[in-house]
Amino acid sequence: MHSDERAARAVEELSRRIHAASLDGGLDAEPVVELACLLYERGVHTSAVQELLERPAAGLAAHELIRLGEEVLRDVGSEVGARWWAALEQALTVVARDLEAAGIAGTLRLVIPDWDDSGQAWVEFQGVHHGNGIRLSAGSDPRWALASVAGATQEVVMETIWRVWPVCAEHGLGLHVEPADEVADEGVVWRCAGAGAHVVAPVGELPVDHRADPARVTNRSARRPRADRPGGRR
Ligand SMILES: [Zn+2]
Repeated sequence: MHSDERAARAVEELSRRIHAASLDGGLDAEPVVELACLLYERGVHTSAVQELLERPAAGLAAHELIRLGEEVLRDVGSEVGARWWAALEQALTVVARDLEAAGIAGTLRLVIPDWDDSGQAWVEFQGVHHGNGIRLSAGSDPRWALASVAGATQEVVMETIWRVWPVCAEHGLGLHVEPADEVADEGVVWRCAGAGAHVVAPVGELPVDHRADPARVTNRSARRPRADRPGGRR
């Protein structure tokens, strides 16, 4: 792993710890100071970061620690948020290859709609979005990002074009992507339920469908690939 990536992971992990500890009232100085050091090394020299580096950790009162923890998390928000967003966008370019392989035209975009107060990312296809948003933190892990974006893309594409996508060329069944928390060693793949279930291809590597013909699959239920997905997202 690249050292920059390792530092980013450390920042994310510390942020998670500080956030969780703040919520349950068990915040201690160690992760907050550690995060401040990491940020300082990466060129983030905000007042909260400076204060944490200059003051002895033992002298920080609980309420000061909470205030500084919140400020540092805010400082981190912009940097980490941008990184996660970039990872989700990268995942979208991978998923777009599968759409192209199926001969489906249309622009995919990652957006945060005004109406979504939770600030989740949504996959937009041909100007519309459907289904579920994606938490930005999914971008903290490339596999999580890819699984989330592939699932969201499948939803919006099928709702928009009223066809099953993607489809197993061998069995004619809709494929499903492994939920992010069940991704196995083989990585993020499209799976077919036919013939005892088999992996068709890694996401982004579906073969070009030379028989692509919209009329061929119009009568399949658009929700079919979801039916056999354990713990489906709806
Ligand atoms: Zn199949």
